[in-house]
Amino acid sequence: MVEVRDVSKNFGGLKALDRVTFDVKEGEKVVIIGPSGSGKSTLLRSLNKLEQIDTGRILVDGIDLYGQGTDINKLREEVGMVFQSFNLFPHKTVLENITLAQCVVRQRSTAEADEKAIGLLRKVGLEEKAGAYPAKLSGGQQQRVAIARALAMDPKLMLFDEPTSALDPEMIGEVLDVMKSLAREGMTMVVVTHEMGFAREVADRVIFMDAGRIVEEGTPEHFFRNPTHERTRLFLSQIL
Ligand code: ADP
Ligand code: MG
Repeated sequence: MVEVRDVSKNFGGLKALDRVTFDVKEGEKVVIIGPSGSGKSTLLRSLNKLEQIDTGRILVDGIDLYGQGTDINKLREEVGMVFQSFNLFPHKTVLENITLAQCVVRQRSTAEADEKAIGLLRKVGLEEKAGAYPAKLSGGQQQRVAIARALAMDPKLMLFDEPTSALDPEMIGEVLDVMKSLAREGMTMVVVTHEMGFAREVADRVIFMDAGRIVEEGTPEHFFRNPTHERTRLFLSQIL
């Protein structure tokens, strides 16, 4: 589903990504961890072409993101992204937030889009909030709406960039539960998170980044029992 080959990205003299290479297979859940500033968001944004890369190659579902003549809109339809800040449209209701792109991008009828949105709201446990405005929802509820909005496009790949980092502790669980159920349904997912419980439970593979590089990659068991690199051990000892 995703092929990242030797990708580098500089901001001025700073190497945000330094020859990053990895794959994500269909249905796989990959969790990316690492200290602040290690390039996790830059990497995730590159997978949705929100960032220009300097060198290397990224394929998503066979689409060469940085190749010439790539239909970027087609890519954005296939890749859903959820950010730390929920970015809901404040002047639209929950339902409208979820139907807008369906109508504009997918060209669905209002009835079709509404039906899809209601189904997704049920899935994230917020059916009764369809008519509410985002400001009336808690952070956890807003993030669940943001997930439903991304899912409404029927993405083949979902990217999550620290989806629970802006939430009060008591709301983290409800968002992780939605992500876990998505994982169980077989969604291909790349998740940047500091939630090690989630990594342990859901990840097929964990990637540890530091200073723009992939330092270590392995199963959760490998990571949490016996990480190879000193830098990984240090990081884990700080957050666990
Ligand atoms: P992480 O998500 O792991 O915290 P980021 O990918 O956000 O790391 O950032 C990696 C590095 O690139 C950091 O040093 C950050 O300051 C720098 N960086 C990220 N985006 C920009 C930008 N638009 N302009 C300049 N520097 C940036
Ligand atoms: Mg980040």
